[in-house]
Amino acid sequence: MKILVTGGAGFIGSAVVRRAVESHGISVVNVDCLTYAANLANLDDVSGSDLYAFERADIRDAAEMARIFLVHQPDAVMHLAAESHVDRSIDGPGEFISTNIEGTYVLLQAARAYFETLSGARREGFRFHHVSTDEVYGSLGAVGKFTEETSYKPNSPYSASKAASDMLVRAWGETYRLPIVVSNCSNNYGPFQFPEKLIPVVILNALAERPIPIYGAGTNVRDWLFVDDHADALLTILTAGKLGETYNVGGNNEVSNIDLVRTLCVILDEQRPRSDGKYADLITHVTDRPGHDFRYAIDASKIERELNWAPSVTVEEGLAQTVRWYLDNEAWWRAIQSRGQVGERLGLRDKMIAE
Ligand code: NAD
Repeated sequence: MKILVTGGAGFIGSAVVRRAVESHGISVVNVDCLTYAANLANLDDVSGSDLYAFERADIRDAAEMARIFLVHQPDAVMHLAAESHVDRSIDGPGEFISTNIEGTYVLLQAARAYFETLSGARREGFRFHHVSTDEVYGSLGAVGKFTEETSYKPNSPYSASKAASDMLVRAWGETYRLPIVVSNCSNNYGPFQFPEKLIPVVILNALAERPIPIYGAGTNVRDWLFVDDHADALLTILTAGKLGETYNVGGNNEVSNIDLVRTLCVILDEQRPRSDGKYADLITHVTDRPGHDFRYAIDASKIERELNWAPSVTVEEGLAQTVRWYLDNEAWWRAIQSRGQVGERLGLRDKMIAE
């Protein structure tokens, strides 16, 4: 089996590529244009494998996408390439519209043209798996969970662009009979996460003895999914999911931001004690994100029931592994930090970028 993975040099994409190649012996063509969020070092473990190929290309480039399908003849597509940071989408929504919506459209058209050339078992088996987020569902109150039937109510430019891309994929399935499957998952964390997202920001600020920022009161609630569990779920959905279906993927780990950060501080206290005081002393409340969704919670019972998938770690176990990884892989994050402009506050709506 050969999968075309878009965004395979990013955080989740690289976890999928490593797992597909190393654990499943699946061939992968990684299509990635290498934005600031990409890091080919994430793929060091597999880049020498015969099962791995890399194409530096932009999913918005129709000619390149057509060429890549023709040359590599994949059996399936896993589409992860996207602009993925909510705060950046507040400062500059244009790239999110362009990559997440137009890029998905270009990729769908290329996949459709390629699918039309397939016959027999290869046509039967082909699928286009679109990887999306639970943020498309909007914000929950104190109770309830997102199911696959929850209506879409995206609140940020990021989640609106992902919602639009989900709709395009659905329409290509209905109108052109492209064999599609969609998954929407909760917040991921784990090794190789770019240090602009909450968990690596907390770990790296703590290690640098800098203030640990909490947006607003820190009462916003998220479900946290360990990235390797997500990669496992994605490969399960790709190979066993029913065509035309959506699967919600969650970690069964609902926690408020402030509790998550306090847990991380305790783990850091154990794994790399400060010379003076506790890491929690560095917690600092900062201005909240505009339109900050209050709560996300995933009902992942469908994937559990139908595909027999469940997360393998609790949030405490996953966070301990993650802290250990950042402590053991300082060269990885130092290289990113040396590019500059990493870790600065974004998304306060005060930088209106002309587009
Ligand atoms: P990421 O930002 O770490 O990686 C995105 C990758 O896509 C990068 O390697 C980047 O170079 C590539 N890319 C961006 N624009 C491209 C373009 N125009 N052409 C080709 N490649 C391009 O993102 P991530 O956190 O790994 O997320 C992957 C996917 O999963 C995204 O679609 C995101 O919406 C979705 N998702 C992420 C989370 C999360 O918590 N990180 C949660 C749910 C869903």
